[in-house]
Amino acid sequence: MLEDIWKKRPLIISGPCSAETEEQLIQTASRLSTIGKVDVLRAGVWKPRTKPGMFEGVGTIGLPWLLQAKKITGLPTTVEVASAKHVEDALKFEVDILWIGARTTANPFSVQALADAIKGINIPVFIKNPINADIDLWSGAIERIQKAGIEKVGLIHRGFSNYGNTEYRNAPMWHLPIEMKRRFPEMMLLCDPSHICGNRTLLQTVAQKAIDLDFDGLMIESHITPDQALSDANQQVTPEALAEMLNSLIWRKGHTNKQEFITALATLREQISHVDDELIALLTHRMNIVEKIGQYKRDNNVTILQTNHWNDILQKAIKKGEELGLSEEFIIKYFAAVHLESINHQNKVMNS
Ligand code: PEP
Ligand code: MN
Repeated sequence: MLEDIWKKRPLIISGPCSAETEEQLIQTASRLSTIGKVDVLRAGVWKPRTKPGMFEGVGTIGLPWLLQAKKITGLPTTVEVASAKHVEDALKFEVDILWIGARTTANPFSVQALADAIKGINIPVFIKNPINADIDLWSGAIERIQKAGIEKVGLIHRGFSNYGNTEYRNAPMWHLPIEMKRRFPEMMLLCDPSHICGNRTLLQTVAQKAIDLDFDGLMIESHITPDQALSDANQQVTPEALAEMLNSLIWRKGHTNKQEFITALATLREQISHVDDELIALLTHRMNIVEKIGQYKRDNNVTILQTNHWNDILQKAIKKGEELGLSEEFIIKYFAAVHLESINHQNKVMNS
């Protein structure tokens, strides 16, 4: 049965951030089961909180509640583990799937300890991205768990810590899960919009974006009385609100066999490919000119970086981009990359 669950698409995991009481957990599970859209019940019993004094979870006493919820609803369960003891306790109470939290994935010692603890046990494991935007650390955690003989490994994208206030609690940095899809094409990849958003308002938009990027499913926190939740109150939704949201998401497929679509897409992709070739040729042309400038600067002992001029270029480009529908964010990133490459080319000319 877990075999089928693992293959189900989209896979939906939901449940409270934390198990708080037996009643809260069983009621949440029952209402999730009633809406009929959820495949796996989640609940944290050990909560890694940023500061002491916050609710750190009920601990092992929450595990029998999870088992009871499974018996009542038939939903398989998943819990976050961060130590060998957690693994041992979770297995004792028949937890079906383990997940490694973002703070744990960031620590190779902890991941290795978990890998050693689950060695030889055939239990599926989800690995959340590390809190910092380090994709090799995420890949490293996968390798450690796979080396322990775990065959069913899945990924959960929950966003990355950032300094200062942004619209997200954790920046999604979509290029990172996209890169993980490239590195591990066969591996299940879920999105956790709850921890990316940190609030309810953005949940649906982020979930839809994940679907549009061909994610395999979602992990979303739900609670019978979200506002009273002991952890992550702002981002949790009732099971019924979850159902409404899941119903209004547009689930798209990775491909279609419709001939008209295939032909049209192939033609457009060919056009893009020509444009990309031209862009590369133009960039090369730009670098050739830049190298000539480098020679003049070298012969006249002038610095490579001319801050005012660079700022002028950027401001003009932002304005032009705006007129043509390119975002300021893109123009800045694009020009920063082109500028850096230009500096490197000049550097070579000036110091060769
Ligand atoms: C959670 O799922 O409640 C949790 C603590 O997640 P993360 O590891 O993504 O912070
Ligand atoms: Mn949470």
